[in-house]
Amino acid sequence: THFGFKTVPSSMKETLVRNVFSSVASRYDLMNDAMSMGIHRLWKDHLLRSMAPAPNTRLLDVAGGTGDVAQRFLEYQDKHHGGGASSVHMVDINPEMLAEGERRFAGSTWEREGRIAFSVGNAESLEFVDDCSVDYYTIAFGIRNCTHPERVVQEAHRVLKPGGRFMCLEFSRVENPVLATLYDMHSFHVIPRLGEVLAGDRASYEYLVESIRRFPPQDEFAQIIRDAGFTTIGRGYENLTFGTVAIHSGYKF
Ligand code: SAM
Repeated sequence: THFGFKTVPSSMKETLVRNVFSSVASRYDLMNDAMSMGIHRLWKDHLLRSMAPAPNTRLLDVAGGTGDVAQRFLEYQDKHHGGGASSVHMVDINPEMLAEGERRFAGSTWEREGRIAFSVGNAESLEFVDDCSVDYYTIAFGIRNCTHPERVVQEAHRVLKPGGRFMCLEFSRVENPVLATLYDMHSFHVIPRLGEVLAGDRASYEYLVESIRRFPPQDEFAQIIRDAGFTTIGRGYENLTFGTVAIHSGYKF
């Protein structure tokens, strides 16, 4: 595509992504902790702090996986706004990942109150979500796996209400050269090895490292978000942990 992704045929990319997450669904949470040394929890906490969602709002959490962002949103609402009518709709392309999410919320008060819903679907075409119907849209560690990230952002723009906010947490670029070298060692040696030892699947984790490298750097992705019609504040993103990950954000006005 014109965003500098390598030309992996779309169908092949989708098969690869499906296999990666099917093979890891049940070990997914363990792998996240192992690969990020637990730091992914802090990144997700930070996402919610910087969202600071208003009471009685609706979140669409796309590529929601096992529900880390959904849970933090509902906890935030309970803690700061006494729960109220806030709700989350989780979407994921992989039924096994989504099933892990459903298991997590089974029997919770949120489930009983009808404040959490699940749909299997592709971030690039959310035809089951109405135009201008959600207050917040999140996608955490999901967009780099999508074939057409620009379509994902356009869909986010369609489903958000005017005044609504798009937020994306994703691996990004470490700019400091010394830290970048250390990070490369972690990516090319530690992560594939952890994949091999903990999940018995080295190839999938090599693919994950590749996908991080192919995703556009901070400023380029911020431009994709503006091109979809979003207004960004300042440069449109915040780096966390030296740019290992970034939170991109845009408002629909
Ligand atoms: N957001 C969760 C988190 O932060 O823990 C899960 C992140 S996981 C690394 C990526 C998720 O994206 C997987 O559950 C995968 O099935 C999903 N995914 C990949 N491509 C997708 C697509 N095109 N549409 C929707 N979900 C997708």
